[in-house]
Formats: sequence, structure tokens, C-alpha cells
Amino acid sequence: MKNGLFSFEFFPPQTPEGAEKLAVTRKQLGKLKPEFFSVTFGAGGSTQDRTLETIRQIKAEGYSAAPHLSCVGSSRDNIGAMLDTYREMGIKRIVALRGDLPSGMASIGEFHYANELVSFIRAHTGDHFHIEVAAYPEFHPQARSPLDDIRNFKRKVDAGADSAITQYFYNADAYFRFVDACRKQGVSVPVVPGIMPIVRFTQLARFSDACGAEIPRWMRKTLESYGDDNEAVQAFGLDVVTQLCEKLLAGGAPGLHFYTLNQAGASLEIWKRLGL
Ligand SMILES: Cc1cc2nc3c(=O)[nH]c(=O)nc-3n(C[C@H](O)[C@H](O)[C@H](O)COP(=O)(O)OP(=O)(O)OC[C@H]3O[C@@H](n4cnc5c(N)ncnc54)[C@H](O)[C@@H]3O)c2cc1C
Repeated sequence: MKNGLFSFEFFPPQTPEGAEKLAVTRKQLGKLKPEFFSVTFGAGGSTQDRTLETIRQIKAEGYSAAPHLSCVGSSRDNIGAMLDTYREMGIKRIVALRGDLPSGMASIGEFHYANELVSFIRAHTGDHFHIEVAAYPEFHPQARSPLDDIRNFKRKVDAGADSAITQYFYNADAYFRFVDACRKQGVSVPVVPGIMPIVRFTQLARFSDACGAEIPRWMRKTLESYGDDNEAVQAFGLDVVTQLCEKLLAGGAPGLHFYTLNQAGASLEIWKRLGL
């Protein structure tokens, strides 16, 4: 494998069958010797236990595990207790996020933005954790302006974040411009591009609308034209995403973080094509 920060992201499965499938996915992707596997985290309730359980399994299999931790709707006590649990388990890396308040959850809790969570992690656990934060090359949907978003990203780094993973995007220039703008603001941490392989178009379109990631018109039109022909969608997706990754790595990206949606196939194929 090439030197660099290569990682894979999962969501915590909801069923025993989902957990079994994910175990197979991990086995396949584990052979690539990634820097870490990360597991997403939702605000509130049982989904949080599933993140912890999935992290436990990854750790037990001998891989480096990085739980995501979102602070919206939470208290200092609650976050402090989760950090203690992860530290006791020997976890060394956390992906620190604000998250989004789920509909029906009334209280924002004791944290307003991710920079407050990063400060809290540093105050509570010192330098124990390597802290990853989120970055948005096409800007966060709630940002008041691009510059404001970059300054808010800087707050997280100034609070103690070690590196960042981006929202996914399909336009390499957005990433390079974003990194340049960050460097101009004095932010020097590694910014690893988040890569979303294309497996199903309707699902991708739904995600992208929700999180503000743009599917360029030429891609959207082509993908739409394939209709239900998933093979054509996937073949096109593999070409486009592999080329994107090549461009990013050639342009100096420090690694790649794959949003796997708990499936190994597309990430494995892109990896193979990249010759990593
Ligand atoms: C790599 C990655 C992993 C993710 N994993 C998860 C997950 O596991 N679970 C989940 O629920 N969501 C996840 N998300 C989604 C994320 O939670 C949402 O995008 C959320 O809306 C913002 O979280 P954040 O940590 O980027 O927030 P922040 O960095 O707090 O930013 C949120 C918004 O507030 C603005 N802002 C930030 N700080 C300030 C400030 N101090 N004052 C004023 N404005 C400010 C920013 O410009 C931005 O518009 C992930 C996103 C990425 C990119």
C-alpha cells in the first residue's frame, strides 16, 4: 500500500444479519491494511450503543477503530462518560462532530458546535486521542459564507483537532481550492478527502441533497439516463470515482477515506484500480 492515511467508514448495523455482513466486509477491507475503520454515531438512544458494540468488535479483531462522536443533544457528563469508556478500551482516535439534531429531539444540549466538543475532549482526556474533524470542500449547508465556514473549520483545529476528513464531493477542484484557502488561514493539518463510491443513483441523490454535496450536472444526467440499469451505474461510478481519486492523490491529497455504506465491493475495486 502507498504511504498515506487510508481509512474506511461504516455505520453501525441494526440487525444480526447486518452485523454478520459487516464482519465479512471488514475482513475483506482489513486485508488492505488501512490506518483505521471508523463507525458513525447518531444522536440519541440505541444507535449509540450499536456504535460502541461495532467499535468493540473492530478492536477485538485487531484493527484500529475510530468511533465518531457527535455532541448535539448531549451533555458534558454523557460525552465525558463515553470518552472514558473509549479510553479504557484502548481507543486512540475519535472523529469529533456536532451532528444534526434528529427531528423530535427538542434540546440542543450543552454543546453548540464541534469546536466546543474538541475543546472538551482535550480538557477531559488531554492528548490521549487523535482527533479527526469534518471539513466541507463545497461548504457546509448552514455556513453563512465560504470564508466563515473555513474560519469555523479553523476553530476546530485551534481547539486541538489533529486532522480532518471531508464530506464527499465529485469535483476535485473544490477540494484543492478548499485546502489552499485553509492554508491561507494558517490551517496546516492533513485534510483527507472523503470518497463516496457510486453504487445506486437514487440513494446517492438523496444523500447529496441532504448534505449539500454536489453531483455535477454531467454526472447526474448520465446516471439518470441509466435508469434501473445498476450495472451501468456502477461501471460509470467506478470510472469516475477512480479518476477522482487519482487526481486527488496526484495533487497531494494525504490519503483517502471511503464511505463504504458497509459494502466492500466498490472500495476494493477502486483500490485495485488505483494500484494502492
Ligand atoms: C467525515 C464526516 C463524518 C460524519 N459522521 C457523522 C456521524 O457519525 N454522525 C452524524 O450524525 N453526522 C455525521 N456527519 C455529518 C455532520 O454531523 C453534519 O454535517 C453536521 O451538520 C455538522 O457537523 P460538524 O461537526 O461539521 O459541525 P460544525 O463544525 O460545528 O459546523 C456546523 C455548522 O456551524 C458552523 N459553525 C461551526 N462552528 C461555529 C461557531 N463556533 N460559531 C458559529 N458557527 C459555527 C459551520 O460553519 C457549519 O455551517 C459527518 C460528516 C463528515 C464530513
